[in-house]
Amino acid sequence: MLAVSEAIQQMLNAMEPITETETLHIADAVDRILDDSVTSTLDVPSYDNSAMDGYALRLEDLQDTDALTPVGQSLAGHPFTGELKGGECIRIMTGAKIPASANCVIAQESTEVNDQTGKVHMLMSPSKNANIRKQGEELKVGNVVFARGHKLTPVDIGMLASLGIANISVKRQLTIAVFSTGDELVQPGHSKRSDQIYDSNRFVIHAMLARAGYNVVNLGLIPDNKQEIADAFMQAAQHADAIVCSGGVSVGDADYTKQVIEELGSVGFWKVAMKPGKPFAFGQVNGAWFFGLPGNPVSATITLQQLAIPALQRLAGERDVHSLILNAIAGESFKKRAGRADFQRGIVRNENGENRVYSAGPQGSGMLSSLVYGNCLIHLEQDRGNVAKGEFVSIQLLSAPIK
Ligand code: AMP
Ligand code: MG
Repeated sequence: MLAVSEAIQQMLNAMEPITETETLHIADAVDRILDDSVTSTLDVPSYDNSAMDGYALRLEDLQDTDALTPVGQSLAGHPFTGELKGGECIRIMTGAKIPASANCVIAQESTEVNDQTGKVHMLMSPSKNANIRKQGEELKVGNVVFARGHKLTPVDIGMLASLGIANISVKRQLTIAVFSTGDELVQPGHSKRSDQIYDSNRFVIHAMLARAGYNVVNLGLIPDNKQEIADAFMQAAQHADAIVCSGGVSVGDADYTKQVIEELGSVGFWKVAMKPGKPFAFGQVNGAWFFGLPGNPVSATITLQQLAIPALQRLAGERDVHSLILNAIAGESFKKRAGRADFQRGIVRNENGENRVYSAGPQGSGMLSSLVYGNCLIHLEQDRGNVAKGEFVSIQLLSAPIK
C-alpha cells in the first residue's frame, strides 16, 4: 500500500502546471491563480495622512502654550495647500493629507475650542507623528505583494484595487469533467426502488470542484456498462483537463471503470494506506488526467480533498498546496488500527482555552452524516494505534472546498 504522502508526491511529480493565461478584470478574478508576481507601483499610503478627525499642528508650537489658531482645513480629497506658521493648526479629517510642516495630529476628543477667542486648546501633549499614517508604511514601490501562483481571495482583490490595478493576468481555469458510475444509482428527484440509492457523490464532487475554482462539466450518471463508460471517458477527455469519477475503481465484478480505463489509458490503481478511501486510481486518458474515487460517499469526499485536489492545484498552477494542520486534545478515546492513516470525522470545541476534539459519530465510509455534523478531520498517523483520551492529535478544520 502507498502512503498518503507518497501518493500525493507521485501525482505532483507527474503534473506540469498549465501555461495558458488570460487577462481578467479584478472584479472577475476571485479564486483565480496569478500567472505572475504582483509588485507595488505605489507607496501605500501614497501620502502622509491623518488617522483621526482632529487638528494637525507642529509639535514645537505647543512648547509655550496649549492654544493654537485654526487657519484652514484638510478634508479627504481636499487638502490644505498652504503652510502652517507658528501658533497655527489645521482642522483635519481621517484620510486627509497632512499639511506641509505639520508633524502630528491631535484627536478631536482631546481638544476644546474656546468660543471667545476661537482658539483650539490641546488637552494632551502628543508625540511626533502621532495619528499620522506615514507614506509607504504599509507598502513601498517595488515591494512584492503577491507571489506567482497565488490564488486570489476577496481581500486580495481589494489589495489589487488599492494599488490601482484593474486587469490582471491569471491562469486559465481548469475544466473538469465529473460523472458517477453505478447501476444502483438514481438521480435525486426521481422515485427509486428499495434496492437503489440516490447518487450523492456527483453533487458533492461538483460543488467541491466548483468551490476550488474550477469549471465543472457534469456528465451525469453512467450505468455499469463498459461501452457507456468508455463513451463517457472519450467525451470527457475531449474537453476536460481532468476527469473525476466515483465508483467502480475497486475489485468488484461490476467495477468496469477499472477495466475500461485500463484499455483506454495509462492508469495506476492504487491502494492508498488511508481510511476511508483505500482504492484510488490516477492516470491519463487521451490527454486528460484521471482521478478515480471510491464509491463510498465519505471515501469519495476525503480522497478528493486529500489526494485529487492537491494534484489539481498543481495542474492549475497554484503555489501553496498544503493545508494547515492544528493540534487538539483527544476529548475521548479513538479506535485506530496501525497500518493506514485515518481521517476520522471530529467535532472540535474550545473548552477553557484548549481545543478538544470528539468523534462526529459513526465513522462508516458510507456515512455522509459524519461529514455533515463534523467540523474537522482528525488525522491519525499511519503507524498509530488506539488513541487514549487526553493524547494530542492533529486536526484539519473542514473548510472550503468541503464546507
Ligand atoms: P463502488 O466503489 O462502485 O464499489 O461503490 C462502493 C459503495 O459506494 C457502494 O455501496 C455504492 O452503492 C456506493 N456508491 C457508489 N457511487 C455512489 C454515488 N455516486 N453516490 C452514493 N453512493 C455511491
Ligand atoms: Mg459501483
